Amino acid sequence: MQCNKEASSPSSQQAPTLSGSYEQLHRFSIEQPEQFWEEQSRLIHWETPPQQILDYSNPPFRKWFVGGRTNLCFNAVDRHLQERGDQLALVVASSETDSVREFTYRQLYREVNDFAAVLVHLGVGQGDRVVIYMPNMAEAVFAMLACARIGAVHSVVFGGFAAHNLALRIDDAQPKLLITADAGCRGGKVIPYKPLVDSALASAQTPPEKVLVVSRGLDQALALEPGRDVDYASLRAQLGPVDVPVQWLESNEPSYLLYTSGTTGKPKGVQRDVGGYAVAMALSMLTVFDVKPGQVMFSTSDVGWAVGHSYNVYGPLIGGATALLYEGLPTRPDPGVWWQLCEKYRVRTLFSSPTAIRVLKKHDPDFIRKHDLSALQYLFLAGEPLDEPTALWIKQLLGKPVIDNYWQTETGWPALTLLPGVDLKPTRFGSPGFANLGYNARIIDENTGQEVAPGQKGVLVFVPPLPPGCLSTVWRNDERFIASYFSHFKTLLYSSSDWAIRDEDGYIFILGRTDDVINVAGHRLGTREIEESVSSNQAVVEAAVVGVPDELKGQVPVVFATLRDEHAGDRAAAAAGLRKTVETSLGAVARPARVYIVDALPKTRSGKLLRRSLQALAQGGDPGDLSTLDNPAALDEVRNALNRGADAGD
Ligand code: ATP
Ligand code: MG
Repeated sequence: MQCNKEASSPSSQQAPTLSGSYEQLHRFSIEQPEQFWEEQSRLIHWETPPQQILDYSNPPFRKWFVGGRTNLCFNAVDRHLQERGDQLALVVASSETDSVREFTYRQLYREVNDFAAVLVHLGVGQGDRVVIYMPNMAEAVFAMLACARIGAVHSVVFGGFAAHNLALRIDDAQPKLLITADAGCRGGKVIPYKPLVDSALASAQTPPEKVLVVSRGLDQALALEPGRDVDYASLRAQLGPVDVPVQWLESNEPSYLLYTSGTTGKPKGVQRDVGGYAVAMALSMLTVFDVKPGQVMFSTSDVGWAVGHSYNVYGPLIGGATALLYEGLPTRPDPGVWWQLCEKYRVRTLFSSPTAIRVLKKHDPDFIRKHDLSALQYLFLAGEPLDEPTALWIKQLLGKPVIDNYWQTETGWPALTLLPGVDLKPTRFGSPGFANLGYNARIIDENTGQEVAPGQKGVLVFVPPLPPGCLSTVWRNDERFIASYFSHFKTLLYSSSDWAIRDEDGYIFILGRTDDVINVAGHRLGTREIEESVSSNQAVVEAAVVGVPDELKGQVPVVFATLRDEHAGDRAAAAAGLRKTVETSLGAVARPARVYIVDALPKTRSGKLLRRSLQALAQGGDPGDLSTLDNPAALDEVRNALNRGADAGD
């Protein structure tokens, strides 16, 4: 195979002008989308430039950069070789295997090409799906980029998912190949992956022909099935170092599939394009995350989530930055582990989740304080509501802006955020800020479809066409794409299915999911608002509020909460205190009918509260589909608490 030519460096192309205030740029992006995105398209390399910036002839489907040919892997790797071949591209730190692996762009090029050669050897070609079921290890990144290089469509399935979840995604994606590791680890415990894969393949309707196994020597009992399973290291050695040509793809061809978290039901297979996604990644690195070539971004996400795809892999690499990937818990070997990495690699932007910060909040703040975090400029948090006590705690500790940003697997990059790379507005607790560039966000009345006034609650929607980077459709299911996102209102609008409110200054606040609203004696209350109030009580670490039927009032709020250690001794007093807190802040109508103190709350593997299961249990029902549940012990906790009776209540 022939060697690829080295690419034009980013600076050799005319970069767009991103000058102006946030307001100016945002208006430009909404009022003149074609001009705006034509400028941004210059942030990436096009083998063939786009002939048309936007084709919106078949709403709500839209095509960005029509006719342009490009490649995600080329933009993430090859393009940087000339100017920054010896700069660190990827650092993978694992507290599970007690190792740190560093790769320059040149080394990354080698790894990705060799991986791609193995894929080609196994018969994988353009358009074929490849399921990647791996922990946060370097080869997961190589595998993704190798797929992108040859035009195969990867679908990374979070390595913590059980065989059943994996089988469901295999049947939807119908992959030609599955790539896995011998094992993952959690808290020092080795979790063999191959038996899970074997069991998923046994139950899947459309199992792949081959399974490629990357072994780290963690699972001593690893057994490969002859004829089906292939050992990566052996095949790589056999093929030797190979340069694999880049497959240039039309901008709107699929690049990857990624399933939503499944918090509200059956996961949807989000399909991403090539060119639009690359441009959105490049733009967001500069405008949102304020990370320039040569700087370091650390995202604590798993590669299996949307954040992991965009800001552990594609965003930083397309942006010529250094991506830091971490395998392990935030508290092992001690709660200083992330901050030590921030110090060592001079991380500029750290991206994590409110859940993770709440975990750290249980520990001594000195684990954070003792590190030199002078390079760190921002902490971005996303994935679920950021409660004020958590935001305040970490903000005071770091003395740096803590930026809440809102997005969905569907959007692929922040939809609501502050943009420190443009102009950093003051943060406002509880608000992820403003609509990102390209997002035409509105808050509308669920019944009339009209925009609501500031201070009034409505559904957060985006006026289509959706900007580049967002999903193109639901994989092989255009009907579901329309039904799930565009069928809620008379006019064609993308519904986020989240409640929101805008204050007088334009800051948007997320109030929870539209199916998380409860109706108490005719008053509509967002469970999020009540959770926020409960969390403001000093005794509480985390809280979930659900509505359960009540003969008199229709529905009443019921609280499940975890307590700080020092308050755990007297559940009744803490529970009574919580009710008082809510009554004082939100009024008697929101006062929880019952409060249950538990040791843990059920969460999805992506760290989101599984309210639908809590609600079902609180109503004496079945917790429903538990395939995305992370901590089964928490359900027993909840059941025990319900049997024991409320710790405080009417
Ligand atoms: P599914 O769509 O399958 O039910 P999911 O919605 O949990 O799963 P994700 O795409 O991972 O899957 O999560 C997106 C949702 O997470 C948003 O719609 C919102 O409810 C919540 N979310 C994300 N970021 C924030 C944030 N900054 N503040 C409040 N909520 C957030
Ligand atoms: Mg969702």
